[in-house]
Amino acid sequence: MSLLVVGSVAYDAVETPFGKRERMLGGSATHFSLSASFFTDVRVVGVVGGDFGSEEMGVFERHSVDTSDLERVPAGQTFFWRGRYDFDLNTAHTLDTQLNVFADFKPKLSEASRRARMVFLGNIQPALQKEVREQVGGAELVALDTMNYWISTVPEQVVEAIRVVDVVIINDAEARQLAGEANLVKAARKILSWGPRALVVKRGEYGAAMFTKETYFAIPAYPLEAVFDPTGAGDTFAGGFMGYLSSHDLADEETMRRAIIFGLHRKNSLHSIYNSRFTIHGFITV
Ligand code: AMP
Repeated sequence: MSLLVVGSVAYDAVETPFGKRERMLGGSATHFSLSASFFTDVRVVGVVGGDFGSEEMGVFERHSVDTSDLERVPAGQTFFWRGRYDFDLNTAHTLDTQLNVFADFKPKLSEASRRARMVFLGNIQPALQKEVREQVGGAELVALDTMNYWISTVPEQVVEAIRVVDVVIINDAEARQLAGEANLVKAARKILSWGPRALVVKRGEYGAAMFTKETYFAIPAYPLEAVFDPTGAGDTFAGGFMGYLSSHDLADEETMRRAIIFGLHRKNSLHSIYNSRFTIHGFITV
């Protein structure tokens, strides 16, 4: 089964208490598709600038991620994000966001992408998420992620996008901010009242939870000793979750519970790989 993702493909500058890097491959669609590629065929919809290198494209190729719908704008610059983490690695502080080629991006899905049975609307401008949703009318399951940047700047657009999806996957702070509710249970009830049948809440190093109108499910994560940079953890979780569902071509509640476990596992395994990749590429560890 093939899985479609739309989201950012980016260059990130990241600083954590353990080191600093100026320019590395990032983006919600990137982390998601690499993670999901361990389970299923993945197609990525997005845009990059003329500065996007062949080494970065090679990362997608090595994981057999289909990039036919990844547009390149030779005259433009790739999306750029700069973030910082303190000792609480659960909270990313955004220092700079440059939409660049995403500012004028109009996703045009190929015939094959339109036929996707499962779709992930990764973290990107919510109006773009909605446009992609409209082009995949026959999808069996559509999930959406977002972040505080969009909830703060265009909250109505975020709610409009949520109204047309089946599953929302966000972290607990975002759920509270989005619903305007301090209590997570009340926040979940409000978000579900907009239409989705499930809300999956990422709880950083504590695991994940899933709310439906009638049920609640939670699972702890196993702790990791070496974490240098948590960037992309949410997207690798979502990639494992959706990848598992797509490989089984099922989206009932029991399969979604199992998918959450696979999502957490994939997130942890990829972090070991990312940690060593950052070290190799010059991520300074102290
Ligand atoms: P996460 O899984 O939440 O840690 O996602 C991190 C990725 O999100 C980074 O690699 C960034 O490139 C990307 N990102 C940061 N801000 C935004 C934004 N406003 N829209 C889309 N992607 C973003």
